Amino acid sequence: MRQTTIMRRVQCSGIGLHSGKEARIALRPAAENAGIVFHVRTPEGARAAIRPAPDAVTAACLATTLRGNGGAVATVEHLMAALRGLGIDNIHIDVEGGEIPIMDGSAEPFVGLLSRAGIRKQSGVRRVLRIKRPVRFAREGKWIRAEAYDGFFVDYSIDFPHPAIGARRMTLDLTPENFFAVAAARTFGFLRDAEMLHKAGLALGGSPDNAVILDDAGVINPGGLRYEDEFVRHKLLDFIGDMGMLPFPLRGRFTVSCSGHGLNNEFLRHLHASGDLFPEEIAHHRGRDRCAAPARRNNLSIDMAI
Ligand SMILES: [Zn+2]
Repeated sequence: MRQTTIMRRVQCSGIGLHSGKEARIALRPAAENAGIVFHVRTPEGARAAIRPAPDAVTAACLATTLRGNGGAVATVEHLMAALRGLGIDNIHIDVEGGEIPIMDGSAEPFVGLLSRAGIRKQSGVRRVLRIKRPVRFAREGKWIRAEAYDGFFVDYSIDFPHPAIGARRMTLDLTPENFFAVAAARTFGFLRDAEMLHKAGLALGGSPDNAVILDDAGVINPGGLRYEDEFVRHKLLDFIGDMGMLPFPLRGRFTVSCSGHGLNNEFLRHLHASGDLFPEEIAHHRGRDRCAAPARRNNLSIDMAI
């Protein structure tokens, strides 16, 4: 299986969820083995390149931020989900405004942007990180279980004590085609949290234009939901983005119960630190994956030390 990048430069702009100000991104093709690289301005005005890495993520309330080399980029999760969902290995992302625009609160606008850019295969063989042995990770009744699998399979359950959400479950065997089942599902939040978030300087750009908003009785957006089970679809989308915060795509089967950005990131740090991932080159289509080279351990740190 070959690495991919985009064919041409594309850009988009929109409101920053947290700043409430305009944010802009440009996506550019990247050479093979470049990976996913965000380019930002540091507070001092210098340019900084930031690559996804579990330890570079700050996952707080509604805010997944990547940091590195003195710079930071916020609200990366839905763009990361789109890149992993469509299987894009190498891309440069120029960020203005410190944040990826929230667009409509889903990954669909980024899928449209990447489709407009076009996706092309490169000559290098795709590199992935595989789950090596079963792992279970739990915190306060929330848990994630991971097993070896020749692909990226997610079985996600939520159980929110809210009349519009309730208990839901969804499974997805991720391919670029199947990603469309979750791409358009929007982020969601509770009206009662809005004041607290605003006081903390968060979600200043949040509105029914870019999130499903719930009061105690139900959804307040005039247009209602895009899917009856939009909430679990969005949680699964977030999981794809959160597991994308590694230098290469992750391969495994994941069973997830009531997780969120914080636990997802703790889990990824645990996997990364525990040696339960090993790098491999995919020479053939998944399902019949073969190692192009003998599997090597311990070179993950070399790949991430950029
Ligand atoms: Zn999200």
